[in-house]
Amino acid sequence: MSRLAVTCHAVNLAQGFPDFPAPDEIKRAATSAIMEDYNQYSITWGGKDLRNAISQKAIKYNHIEADPETDITVTCGATEALMAAMLAIINGGDEVIIFEPFYESYGPDSAVSGAIPRFVPLNDDFSINEEALVSAFNKKTRALIINTPSNPCGKVFTKYELNLIADLCAEHDVIAVSDEIYEYIVFDNKKHISIASFDEMRDRTITLGGFSKTFSVTGWRIGFAIAEKTLSSAIRKVHDFLTVGAPTPLQRACLAGLSFPDSYYKELAGMYEKRRDFLYDTLTKAGFRCHMPEGAYYILADMPEGTGMDDMTFARYLISEVGVAAVPGSSFYHSEPGKHKLRFTFSKKDETLQEAARKLEKLNI
Ligand code: PMP
Repeated sequence: MSRLAVTCHAVNLAQGFPDFPAPDEIKRAATSAIMEDYNQYSITWGGKDLRNAISQKAIKYNHIEADPETDITVTCGATEALMAAMLAIINGGDEVIIFEPFYESYGPDSAVSGAIPRFVPLNDDFSINEEALVSAFNKKTRALIINTPSNPCGKVFTKYELNLIADLCAEHDVIAVSDEIYEYIVFDNKKHISIASFDEMRDRTITLGGFSKTFSVTGWRIGFAIAEKTLSSAIRKVHDFLTVGAPTPLQRACLAGLSFPDSYYKELAGMYEKRRDFLYDTLTKAGFRCHMPEGAYYILADMPEGTGMDDMTFARYLISEVGVAAVPGSSFYHSEPGKHKLRFTFSKKDETLQEAARKLEKLNI
């Protein structure tokens, strides 16, 4: 859709990357690191200073105690952390529970690691369907993937829901792979909770994170996996052979970012909250039915009634005839409901969102 958007000069609200600049401080730190010759391989599992800083952040923000020497692996984005985690824990034929709608990587990660995905649809309001979740667990279940805040639907899992998941994981000896890449982008005074902070989950969770979203640097490719040392040791082995290590100068730059004051994170969430409200109004006026996201930077919207098109056809129509790009909902669903939805991102400058709003006013269904 991004490629088509370029061809048709459409406003790209498809791919989730900011079109505004990253903070100057970390850009300066990146260029200084290169000029100071931090240009060779780093330690495979990440520079010591960065692991120390991630460990401190994990205690303060996530309430997870992680030994930087043994429990943290710096990776090429959360994307690599996810693949390394799956390859580390899956034996062929193991089942992995995935909530639907899901982030696109989870299916392919399961396929590559040899896992069989078991999709558990969330309710229409994106709450957990407890019955469906309980019945998804069986003797073959090895892992469950959670994404909070969620891409594509902006769901922030509640303490009650995480407790339910934790109890089931403990009962069935299952590992939670918790993708928390949007951990700082949470709205309406909601709280981000890491499942690894629950006592019974400490040793059975792999927490994935990264700096793509937090510091608006999706092209830098720096992420991390936090897990107790036996799991981390397996993740580190896979990581070594996947990528050897994450880019050294950019690890230094992310380290600089980790010393930003708390106000940075507050401003980040506040800025996205305003853009969420704007896009929500825009889409509602254009005839979409939207669920208000609680976090991350996407709106998963039901297509206006009466288009007579499926999601893919409508997404193409929206690009070529209206001039706005979104992602077809079926990218995030294994089942039917995706065919009636589109995902829009609000990780864009005000001007970009305003231009999209002007174009969407012309949508006549
Ligand atoms: N998980 C989710 C839910 C995402 O939305 C993304 C980025 N779109 C990633 C992981 C990958 O992040 P990274 O840039 O760190 O690889």
